Amino acid sequence: MEMEKLVSLCRRRGFLFQSSEIYGGLNGFWDYGPLGVELKRNVREAWWRDMVSAHDDLATHAGAPSPYEMEGLDCTIIMHPQVWKCSGHHDLFVDKMVDCRESKKRYRYDQVRGRWVTAKDQKIFVTTVAEEEEEDLKRRAMKFFKLRNKDADKLAWDGEMTTLDKIDVADFDKAFAPEASALGTFTEPRDFNLMFPTTIGALAGEEGRAFLRPETAQGIFVNFKNVVDSTRVRVPFGVAQIGKSFRNEITPRNFTFRSREFEQMEIEFFCHPSQSPDWYKFWRDRRMKWWQDLGLAGERLILRDHEPDELSHYSTGTADIEYAFPFLPEGEYGELEGIAHRGDFDLRSHMEGKLDPNSCPLEVELGEDGKPKHKGSGRDLTYRDDLTNERFTPHVIEPSAGADRGTLAFLCEAYTEDTAPDDKGKEQTRTVMKFHPRIAPIKAAILPLVKKDGMPEVAQELYRALKKKFPVFYDAKGAVGRRYRRQDEAGTPYCLTIDGQTLDDKTITLRDRDSLEQVRIKLDDAVEEVERRVYG
Ligand code: ATP
Repeated sequence: MEMEKLVSLCRRRGFLFQSSEIYGGLNGFWDYGPLGVELKRNVREAWWRDMVSAHDDLATHAGAPSPYEMEGLDCTIIMHPQVWKCSGHHDLFVDKMVDCRESKKRYRYDQVRGRWVTAKDQKIFVTTVAEEEEEDLKRRAMKFFKLRNKDADKLAWDGEMTTLDKIDVADFDKAFAPEASALGTFTEPRDFNLMFPTTIGALAGEEGRAFLRPETAQGIFVNFKNVVDSTRVRVPFGVAQIGKSFRNEITPRNFTFRSREFEQMEIEFFCHPSQSPDWYKFWRDRRMKWWQDLGLAGERLILRDHEPDELSHYSTGTADIEYAFPFLPEGEYGELEGIAHRGDFDLRSHMEGKLDPNSCPLEVELGEDGKPKHKGSGRDLTYRDDLTNERFTPHVIEPSAGADRGTLAFLCEAYTEDTAPDDKGKEQTRTVMKFHPRIAPIKAAILPLVKKDGMPEVAQELYRALKKKFPVFYDAKGAVGRRYRRQDEAGTPYCLTIDGQTLDDKTITLRDRDSLEQVRIKLDDAVEEVERRVYG
């Protein structure tokens, strides 16, 4: 699937728009249109329902060591600045970046891609950030060496495509930056904090300085004690939160994949340390199955366990659920969700002061004065098991998913081109969004075949009955074939058509978006039938 086709459909049919488009847009920010908002809400609601509100506290899930409880939270976007000091984001939430002195553009060090090439006795490292990277590299190399198209074979490429961070900084004088006209314009890589600063109240300077949260997880950790004290939950239990997060990404790109404002769906699962490896495995598999059940069932979805040398020493496992987004090179995958075993790192950091992630066993990181570099809350965030009387700091398993990346994966997976007969029975190419019915923005369209003979009246009554249950769409305009096509592009799984026969025998046709099969069902059964097909 070509990404441009999906991007254009998203705009044309109102799934996604560039933020502030009439002013030229704002890089890294996206608005969901009328169809997109329903789609993303459905993704979030499916997650909340499956993970929290419909979770069975009494049953033991397949693969789980025991039953467990789930609670929810909705925390603020701006939190006490000390939260980010103790969480490590203040010191560590940095990406290495390079600037181009000529174009003034800033790039993520590990995202500038390039290749060595020699021509006219000169060897340079030509770089690109374009999606069509090979073509762009060739075009820029030809331009640099002032070669004509027919002389393309004078370029001697050396080695595979690689990223800028893989070449020696000493060779930067031979690097040709993506939008430069001369060599050697990259600065040395520097740290860049991804948190958006803001100011609270009228106080200027450090005192009023705060940050927009870069993740929702910390709101859960700092409320751990509140949840334990205000509910009757017992370890093991999970706390879930859905909400906006902000990261000042250096190179937002690939549609909504890397945005500066996005939504996360995160769970912090608290358990006894002795059981945490088992719970980690449970969550890893459970989360993978969730994405599969909602339609990412093919080989484009993978579960990638981190290699032992990628793990922090306090973690027994981390895995990413990744999807082969169409904008990525063949064989590459982008992260949809990370599932991490985080030990007691977070609760202890908020209790004792920021821990040094490289210490073993974990110790509080000290400043030059020998005191904790970032002071913790001093609150007791341990847990006492009232049955065994044991007091311990729970271990944490963190499944952290992106609602926008998830929505994008569902959009990519759904986009299909096939053929279907038009009104005259002639096969035509059609574009159809094959969403799982649960996340489809509109569940059914109600179409009176013609705008007369009492058909609209019957159709409107059915529309109103269905609308009480879920979003449906009434469309009486134009040829019915064309109306079907519009619904196919919106991903509506069922079209219900009211025709002449309806008036005789009170039956209607139900057309299935994917199989194109049309069956006659009783008008009186329509609401129940659509409900059964959508929600099972
Ligand atoms: P990446 O390596 O792609 O920057 P990450 O490992 O920093 O992602 P986490 O901090 O683990 O991401 O965040 C959890 C989830 O939040 C990710 O799996 C992703 O779905 C989502 N997410 C993170 N950053 C962004 C972003 N800039 N835009 C959209 N979604 C994001």
